[in-house]
Amino acid sequence: MKTNISYIIVLSLILFCGNAFSNDKPVDSKRFVVVIDAGHGGKDPGKPSKTGVREKDVALKIALLLGEELSKNREIEVIYTRKTDVFVELDRRGEIANKAKADLFISIHCNAHTSQASGAETYVLGLHRNNTNFEVAKAENEVIFLEDNYEEKYAQYNLNSPESLIGLTLMQEEFLDQSIQLASLVQDNFREKLNRKDRSVKQAGFVVLHQTVMPSILIETGFITNNEEGRYLNSSSGQREIAHAIATAIEEYRENVSANDFLGISKVVPAVEVKDVVSEDTNYKVQIAASSKNVEAKAYNFKGLPEISKEKEGRLYKYYYGDTSNYSEIQRKLSEAKSKGYKTAYIVSFKNGVKTILN
Ligand SMILES: [Zn+2]
Repeated sequence: MKTNISYIIVLSLILFCGNAFSNDKPVDSKRFVVVIDAGHGGKDPGKPSKTGVREKDVALKIALLLGEELSKNREIEVIYTRKTDVFVELDRRGEIANKAKADLFISIHCNAHTSQASGAETYVLGLHRNNTNFEVAKAENEVIFLEDNYEEKYAQYNLNSPESLIGLTLMQEEFLDQSIQLASLVQDNFREKLNRKDRSVKQAGFVVLHQTVMPSILIETGFITNNEEGRYLNSSSGQREIAHAIATAIEEYRENVSANDFLGISKVVPAVEVKDVVSEDTNYKVQIAASSKNVEAKAYNFKGLPEISKEKEGRLYKYYYGDTSNYSEIQRKLSEAKSKGYKTAYIVSFKNGVKTILN
């Protein structure tokens, strides 16, 4: 066993030194990574509007301005899901954020309505509390119908169910508290600094938010169908103001996070790629869900996956698949869980009772 442990240590050192001495980019694990997702794009224009303002254009302009402003802070790294007018599939957006091990995922959109409704609202993932929220999520989710193989790719979702888009699939509620905190800061900035109408923080079943494993929000920056607000959203000064308000919220959130160092929340960290390592004091499990819902740890509740275990952590129940000290085996189990539809599943390790999230 000792050999294996030394093997991990040696390999980690090699990986670490390899990075530290490479010339392209300084290694700074403390960099705060923000993925900015401009909604829609390309063949998907977003919501229709008689005012001639296109959601995909407004979303992109705000996204770019937001990124430009955040990039001025050298501690923040910005990654875009799109920088031009191109079509990006919904599940690809979350994948970009997960691969980048981002600290935040910010999706930017505009609302539309047949009335002269106005104001900004920010969503976190959750059950639709009312029909209006459901309609907003439904409209944003409809983009998947423009994708190839959408029946297969999104088989787990029931896009037409107002009760719950994700009713039968437990979510990773792990990041809900931080998502709500950030969403509230965005709304506070809109209301207090820009005097925007505050339509509050809301929850609904957005597919794009269901694909990420980090705090994630979707901002409906305003109504392109409202005459006055549509003009504001389409103006460069309006876009700049909105981007600035979001950037301020992100900075405030970042300060809060480092000040509080949230208990029990670990950033997803890269796993050292080691094949067939069996370690006596570490065991691995696949976390498939974290939810305030307490369900029985039985295969029938988890799409037939056996070996389900459950543990309560704070207000959430964590649901795991598998329990092994063999890293290769847990990687196989992770693939199996993902193929069953648990797309945000990830590996966690327990070493001397300390839990770490691996990617
Ligand atoms: Zn949209």
